[in-house]
Amino acid sequence: MSSHAADHPEIRDAVRALCATFGSAYWQRIDEARAYPEEFVDALTRAGWMAALIPEQYGGSGLSLAEATVIMEEVTRSGGNAGCCHGQMYNMNTLLRHGSEAQKRKYLPQIAAGDLRLQAMGVTEPSAGTDTGSIKTLAVRKGDRYVVNGQKVWTSRLQHSELMILLARTTPLADARKKTDGMSVFLVDKREALGRGLTMRPIRNMVNHETNEVFFDNLEIPVENRIGEEGHGFRYILDGLNAERILIAAECIGDGHWFVERAAKYAKDRVVFGRPIGQNQGVQFPIAEAYMEVEAADLMRWKAAALYDANKPCGAEANMAKHLAAKAAWEAANACLQTHGGFGFAAEYDVERKFRESRLYLVAPISTNLILSYIAEHVLGLPRSF
Ligand SMILES: Cc1cc2nc3c(=O)[nH]c(=O)nc-3n(C[C@H](O)[C@H](O)[C@H](O)COP(=O)(O)OP(=O)(O)OC[C@H]3O[C@@H](n4cnc5c(N)ncnc54)[C@H](O)[C@@H]3O)c2cc1C
Repeated sequence: MSSHAADHPEIRDAVRALCATFGSAYWQRIDEARAYPEEFVDALTRAGWMAALIPEQYGGSGLSLAEATVIMEEVTRSGGNAGCCHGQMYNMNTLLRHGSEAQKRKYLPQIAAGDLRLQAMGVTEPSAGTDTGSIKTLAVRKGDRYVVNGQKVWTSRLQHSELMILLARTTPLADARKKTDGMSVFLVDKREALGRGLTMRPIRNMVNHETNEVFFDNLEIPVENRIGEEGHGFRYILDGLNAERILIAAECIGDGHWFVERAAKYAKDRVVFGRPIGQNQGVQFPIAEAYMEVEAADLMRWKAAALYDANKPCGAEANMAKHLAAKAAWEAANACLQTHGGFGFAAEYDVERKFRESRLYLVAPISTNLILSYIAEHVLGLPRSF
């Protein structure tokens, strides 16, 4: 049992009870059909969890990020896939921290009521990759509108979201003072944009993640939908990415515990050569090792969340939490699959599905190498490599 499993027990118990009504058969059916878990997301929304971070004055429950991480952790720990719903948690921060009062009043109560979803964020572009400063999508101001042209890739959950946070250049890279200058953030209302300059194409992928290529062809966005000041968008997005990393870390912790618990149970039950396989130290040790890694990563998750909630710098801790938790979950996934032997590959055990799902987090939302280079350069002061 995790040393922090008792943290926020009311939230933990309530989310756990909700998740228990969506068992393994549900997630297997959704995965096989490559469908979006509508019923699950609706249930989370109705219970108020999707509005966790929205302040009470706008109809939400005003929870801290630390508390919100417990929600995401319980989703993966129950055997579910939080990729369907985590977007709303971290996209919210951009609007909360940098949106105007008018924008908050217009959108937050509707999101809190479950009438609108803010699940999508378009940052990544095919030619820029991780090098966000090189994005080419351009928003040109024309009177009271911006006209947007360009393309995004891997814009997740856009088909199940009315709203999208969009990062676009408002100053072309060649004219920007610095590479990170000249980008702005917009709130795109898909209901107005679809068919009027916005098109999307789903990307079939390994993990039943609802994600898309998105094309902008003279899409008009009203000026009042710009979040914050023009040209400062990169900083706003970075701020939100810290929240995203901490939430994803918690999902990985949930995955890690799911794998460890499943592996330990199977190792106790499965008898080969006249003894439970878990009696063999060769089977025990990888599970014990994985458990320790998950527990250790969990400590960094709480540290990062506490810093974020205190409005203190947390870039290093958020990155470390995500990296350690994603690695720990992946090690636990391997131990769990190995412990299950051939049955680990059978869909009915859920291990192969969770194995695929947990692998994503070593690549997205930020890949391992980029985190290592952040720590090397910004924490250890090593020379900048790119
Ligand atoms: C399922 C899924 C959902 C996603 N959802 C979203 C979303 O909702 N919104 C969004 O904006 N993006 C999303 N992404 C994109 C994701 O954030 C990127 O895939 C990720 O950041 C890596 O970028 P890339 O794929 O362009 O890889 P690249 O930047 O092309 O990098 C490829 C590899 O090279 C390594 N690499 C690159 N440069 C260096 C360097 N200088 N030194 C060392 N190694 C380097 C990287 O670490 C990586 O392993 C999603 C991706 C996936 C797969």
